[in-house]
Amino acid sequence: MTKELDHGRTNAAQGSRIDAYVDRYAARAAGMVASEIRALFAVASRPEVVSLAGGMPYVTALPLDLVGELVADLVATRGSVALQYGSGQGDLALREQICEVMRMEGIEAGPDDVVVTVGSQQALDLITRIFIDPGDVVLAEGPSYVGALGTFSAYQAKVVHIAMDDHGLIPESLEETISAVQAAGERIKFLYTIPTFQNPAGVTLNEVRRRQVLEICRRAGVLVVEDNPYGLLGFDREPLRAMRADDPEGVVYLGSFSKTLAPGFRVGWALAPHAVRQKLVLAMESAVLSHSSFTQLAVGQYLATQPWREQIKSFRELYRERRDAMLAALDVLMPPGCTWTRPGGGFFVWATLPEGLDSKAMLPRAVAERVAFVPGTGFYTDGDGKRHMRLSYCYPEPDRIREGVRRLAGVVEQELQLRDTFGTGSMPGHVGVDTPGPDLA
Ligand code: PMP
Repeated sequence: MTKELDHGRTNAAQGSRIDAYVDRYAARAAGMVASEIRALFAVASRPEVVSLAGGMPYVTALPLDLVGELVADLVATRGSVALQYGSGQGDLALREQICEVMRMEGIEAGPDDVVVTVGSQQALDLITRIFIDPGDVVLAEGPSYVGALGTFSAYQAKVVHIAMDDHGLIPESLEETISAVQAAGERIKFLYTIPTFQNPAGVTLNEVRRRQVLEICRRAGVLVVEDNPYGLLGFDREPLRAMRADDPEGVVYLGSFSKTLAPGFRVGWALAPHAVRQKLVLAMESAVLSHSSFTQLAVGQYLATQPWREQIKSFRELYRERRDAMLAALDVLMPPGCTWTRPGGGFFVWATLPEGLDSKAMLPRAVAERVAFVPGTGFYTDGDGKRHMRLSYCYPEPDRIREGVRRLAGVVEQELQLRDTFGTGSMPGHVGVDTPGPDLA
């Protein structure tokens, strides 16, 4: 046995955390690091902790018995198709249904331009794989979705953040950044944006800005990747028109059934200009051969036989009640100097702490007080976000949300007292628990 192998075995036998393979990973593995949310998973899932951290949809609200019957019926009547390999592009009938779903956001598209993916997360992976060479620039809102940032970093992209305000990303900032990056001789491959009910900021790009952003990107030759898993979950109005509806050639649109049905099916999709769509199918086949026929047909069956529009409406009502509970509690309980966004849909509130406070340093104290959130730094690649945190209201019941905010407000009060006494709140320390488990992105 070589010394090296022996070393690996000894580590395994002792359950050591030392990585015997560290010298052998590809360079891109250096970008694969656990997100802040993953590190939180173990603590936040303890029952005594009110988790305002994860972005888990409230699937318990689904008619689970009906879904069970539908799945049983699917296997009994179409098992030979459902349990077989499928096409790399995805089931045709489902792609037609997806076009019907997208029509609610003004998108006119045919099934030939749709690729079904393993959640929209896989669509993000495939798009990045197709477009990014190490060092290429991806523009993304600051803050942006942690799962997308992880994918970009795994492909060694350089992420440049674009500033946002309460109306989404700021067109002037986009224009300036594009000029600066191009003047520095760097290649921008795409703008990644979540225009509607953004994760994590909860804000929505208004209609005027949508047109401006499309125009700026068209002029600069920058592809837009529009990630829209929350678009149908608006609380106060009908769905906004997707950016893709106004620029079929300049936008790749990503959609998902994770929030409007259930993430466990892992069914999402990409709608792309024709040539990109062809590359996506090839990339899809090299990644997984074909998506699960079983879950695609189950989703198709659900859409064909269940009142899915009504289900989305009831999700909207459920999440609206939780959003209201969170905003009302924040209004009453948070100390002066804290601010937060007021989302019109989706799952998240983005809160800003007073000057001198650091949300990550504050987290151990919060967990000790049995409340969890995600520190803002996880949503940036450049260390920004210290004074921010993401609070999600999608999963806990309204009473738990109120209790969570009450605990959180108490922690912020304590931090302010520390700051006023010592000039700073809690000092940064180790927060994470390195544990396996899904990112609650
Ligand atoms: N994009 C955004 C903005 C998300 O918030 C998420 C999940 N939280 C995803 C993509 C991935 O979702 P899925 O793979 O379940 O479709």
